[in-house]
Amino acid sequence: MKVVLENLTKRFPSRNKKGEDVIAVNNFNFEIPDGQLIGLLGPSGCGKSTTLNLISGLETPTSGKIYFGDEDVTNLPPEARGVGLVFQNYALYPHLTVEENIIFPLQNLKGDKKMTKEAMHDKAVETAKLVQIDGLMERKPKELSGGQQQRVAIARALVKIPRVLLLDEPLSNLDARLRLQTREELRRIQRDTGVTTIFVTHDQEEAMSISDLIIVMKDGVVHQIGKPQDVYDEPANLFVAQFLGTPQINVFEGRIQGGKVWIGNEAVLDVPGKADRDVWVGIRPEGFIPDENGPFTCKMDRVEVMGRDVSVVSTHEKMTGKSIRSIVSAENKFKPGQEAVRFSLKPYKVFLFDRESEERV
Ligand code: ATP
Repeated sequence: MKVVLENLTKRFPSRNKKGEDVIAVNNFNFEIPDGQLIGLLGPSGCGKSTTLNLISGLETPTSGKIYFGDEDVTNLPPEARGVGLVFQNYALYPHLTVEENIIFPLQNLKGDKKMTKEAMHDKAVETAKLVQIDGLMERKPKELSGGQQQRVAIARALVKIPRVLLLDEPLSNLDARLRLQTREELRRIQRDTGVTTIFVTHDQEEAMSISDLIIVMKDGVVHQIGKPQDVYDEPANLFVAQFLGTPQINVFEGRIQGGKVWIGNEAVLDVPGKADRDVWVGIRPEGFIPDENGPFTCKMDRVEVMGRDVSVVSTHEKMTGKSIRSIVSAENKFKPGQEAVRFSLKPYKVFLFDRESEERV
């Protein structure tokens, strides 16, 4: 089921003395293709949950439209939209067994959709198998691990075969290892069912690893939409470049002059044909090549061993942030007490942004 968001805006009345409304979602336009997993990504307060709540019907938009396929669902209540919802807090019924929790959404079906007890049991088992908890059907939620509880919540959201599955930070309460495992499971379940899924997270790595497409938001505004690798490789602006990637992209105050990028008094890269201007120079950690004759000189701080790679931590008077992190192969050797480190740069790992607008140039 494709989901279309058309000029979608949500404004909350002000609660502060200044009397300014909060525009949680600002003119969102996007068509989510059928059967894909979309990662909705951005810092806290950027409007991710509000977007999801608008799609589910828990919130009504101030303006704009929402379509499921060709059907305008903007004014439909949540129960009429056919969405499955999973939140960070699994919100399972503690007094019900796993099976009873999964069956719960089927019990209120009316008319020709009404199901017999046997049919509901079969459906619960089928769905539990999908999320691999069919061996736990008689347990109560408190007898399950966090990961198992979250899978019950997913099974409950899937049991009615939703038109759209909406997941709001579903992995936040899990420990690191379980989080990794569960996100891979989520991806598998989504592929197996083919349900169009929107997944909200503030964790860029999580979103990048399982999404077909990511939407990067800030302050209610969509900053970039694309395949995870494309957005990483071609960030539209400084915010997106900084939001994606660990360690973060290194940002320097620089300028374009005479077809070269200058940081301080060094010309670090050729950019023939680009007009002279002041820029932010973003260099991904993997964009540095240690090179005794390289054009870019930094002050060596320390080398952190990571195994296959090392992280060279250095500084520069034109850097923003606390230090420069470059990830290079451990085959590079550095001398103890070495004061300077010189680099050449991989051009495709260097991004230039207008100093004022912060848009890519
Ligand atoms: P987080 O990751 O912290 O959950 P988020 O990206 O999901 O954040 P939202 O919960 O969508 O962000 O909130 C977006 C903005 O709208 C925030 O500034 C928030 O304070 C505001 N907001 C959300 N709900 C309401 C409400 N019911 N009334 C007033 N303001 C609200």
